[in-house]
Amino acid sequence: MRYLILSDLHANLEATTAVIETAATLAADRTLVLGDLVGYGPNPNEVVDLVRALPDALVIRGNHDRVAVGGAGEYAFNAHARDAIRWTRAQFSPDTLAWLEALPQGPVTVDEDVEICHGAPHDEDAYLFGVADAALAADSAHRRILLFGHTHVTALYAAAADGEVRAVNPAGSAPFDIPLGGAARWLINVGSVGQPRDGDWRAAFGLLDTTAGTCTCHRVAYDAATTRARMRAAGLPALLIARIGPASLG
Ligand code: ZN
Repeated sequence: MRYLILSDLHANLEATTAVIETAATLAADRTLVLGDLVGYGPNPNEVVDLVRALPDALVIRGNHDRVAVGGAGEYAFNAHARDAIRWTRAQFSPDTLAWLEALPQGPVTVDEDVEICHGAPHDEDAYLFGVADAALAADSAHRRILLFGHTHVTALYAAAADGEVRAVNPAGSAPFDIPLGGAARWLINVGSVGQPRDGDWRAAFGLLDTTAGTCTCHRVAYDAATTRARMRAAGLPALLIARIGPASLG
């Protein structure tokens, strides 16, 4: 099976559109969406509509999706995220709201090899940064390949049968291929579509091929100036606008 992996889209219509167009050439069988479709960005209804139109997509909620529909956790957001989530809540069409409310919480088993979650299998709000967090998540995972999001940072970890976990840092820039042999468990974050936080502004996504035993991490440039203009027009916080796009946008 070839799985297209999308996470942390964050209502960024231009980034989501660019990723879906690029991914159309990759012949994926299914799409896995690891949550945070909304929050921060200016087009929550439109991004939800794009995801809903994907054939055979398996979607779980993220913490922003949960809070946006009135679930617990707004208190844990910083002021910018809280302002954005309140704005987001006011934009929802009844249809979008009902669909988001019905999203399942991870972890969800995809097949005999693959499991998906937003933060970690034991806690959808947990941030998986570094090998100690990865070891904890590996303990609570149920499948050989765990796909996660939430940190907005592309990261891969390999866990040996004895529990030792190492970070796999691919040489060179995306797209890069990771062969998924030689480890008892893999924990993979392909990065964020709508708001990457790892120094590369381009939209991140992945393709997991369980037959070939590879995961490919991709990056695609998009029209970030338009995203920023939409955020400004919506009155979203300046700090969130500054996180979008290349440094040359100021
Ligand atoms: Zn997120």
